[in-house]
Amino acid sequence: MSTDWKRYLDNLALGTNKTYPLINPHTREAITDIPECTNNQMEDAISKSNEAFQKMKKLTSEERSTILDNAARLIAAQKEAFARTIVLESGKPIRFAKGEVDRTVETLKFASTEARKLEGESIRLDAAPGGAGRDAYTIFQPIGVVGAITPFNFPLNLVAHKVGPALAVGNTIIVKPAEKTPLSSIMLAQVMDQAGLPKDAIQVITGDGPRLGKILIDHPDVAKITFTGSPDVGKFIKSQAGLKKVTLELGNNSALYIDNSVKDKLKDVAQKVVVGGFSYNGQVCISTQRVYVHEDISEEFLQHLKVATETLVYGDPNKDTTDLSGMIDEKSQQRVLDWIEEALNEGARLITGGEVIGNGVKPTILTNVPSDSKVSCQEVFGPVVVVNTVSNAEAALAKMNDSQYGLNAGVFTYTLPQAFKFAHQLEVGQVLINDLPTLRFDHMPYGGLKSSGYGYEGIKYAIREMVNMKFISINYQ
Ligand code: NAD
Repeated sequence: MSTDWKRYLDNLALGTNKTYPLINPHTREAITDIPECTNNQMEDAISKSNEAFQKMKKLTSEERSTILDNAARLIAAQKEAFARTIVLESGKPIRFAKGEVDRTVETLKFASTEARKLEGESIRLDAAPGGAGRDAYTIFQPIGVVGAITPFNFPLNLVAHKVGPALAVGNTIIVKPAEKTPLSSIMLAQVMDQAGLPKDAIQVITGDGPRLGKILIDHPDVAKITFTGSPDVGKFIKSQAGLKKVTLELGNNSALYIDNSVKDKLKDVAQKVVVGGFSYNGQVCISTQRVYVHEDISEEFLQHLKVATETLVYGDPNKDTTDLSGMIDEKSQQRVLDWIEEALNEGARLITGGEVIGNGVKPTILTNVPSDSKVSCQEVFGPVVVVNTVSNAEAALAKMNDSQYGLNAGVFTYTLPQAFKFAHQLEVGQVLINDLPTLRFDHMPYGGLKSSGYGYEGIKYAIREMVNMKFISINYQ
């Protein structure tokens, strides 16, 4: 295990005499003490970030691109240390933690590429009466200090999704990581320094979200807030941010339709749903939560799903063979168990799971779930998949859209017109045909409708929300 984060924590601790214990979610034992940074520390970080911005502005696109590329290579070289840190603080099983490190390397490589491509456009002003005799074009300029507030569930890659784009365009960034998983972001910041980034262009400030977040949101020298986390906090941030630029990546109760045209693939689809619904205990914003299956194939699908789910192994997240470990905290574990019990009282049928295992919840499949049960209409963020039967594709479409959320949705169908119909009519940011909703490539545009978000990520798209577009016209007559 890398102890790199220790030095960073010691440094932060110089500015405060308060700490809080960081807990290993799987064992529920204390890992280390994390500095509860003061308001002064955050204000100081903003001021240093502003100074660093003057240095960032002087770097060329090529220099910024090289720094990001260096960082990607440094992370790849320390994959094991990064992955073990993710396991330690988030309880994510090692196979998935290594996958997150690989994705982070890709995220930073995409940011490195985009740093060289920040191109505006030429505008034909003579298309308007009186506009002749001018050359006009747009350029993109960095905005300054970006405040990033991040969640616990992808403590490295979701931070990289903010850091990469911010630095690619010449901004500076202050990360306020989730209280439960600050170590990975600290390691990321250290790697950025080693990669050649100007001092203080990235800083990590640990501690209480509402208190430290408020300083970032209110401070006139912070040009943008980029937030990933729960819908309630996201809505609060938007209500407080005034004219500050804001991007919000929030929750979902992702839906999937399985059409009877794929009846010869049900075993494969069931195995995919097990991965999409139960990976990292379903603590994934696009976890496959609501599955609507055509009535002709629903019993067979449920049987395959039950068999595949019951092969999952709960245990030590450091072992390669482990699929599931403890949930992030006891409160989340209890909430998921309560919601399952509520659904059962409301008429749902339990196919498997529904009980405690270690510090987690056994992977749970429910069917016949009323649409207003919490496990269906809210974001479970736990290992629960709700499978309901529908008589046709129209009914599935209506049910999928009957949600306060709109991030990702998936459809398995071999019928082309039906695929297009879902693609056009699903009220979500991303439609995945013949894939699960639990799918994200790091360079694709990614954003939610309704309560799922505001604005886009996916390197190139995140960059557009971290720049000022300037229009320039030159009258040559
Ligand atoms: P959370 O909202 O509890 O916390 C996220 C961050 O916000 C933390 O850093 C926290 O300290 C901070 N925070 C809390 N209250 C705040 C306030 N009042 N002002 C400013 N900052 C505040 O979320 P979480 O439990 O860490 O993560 C789970 C949530 O994140 C789920 O809803 C999940 O769907 C969502 N998520 C969304 C995406 C996406 O890309 N759409 C990705 C991952 C997670």
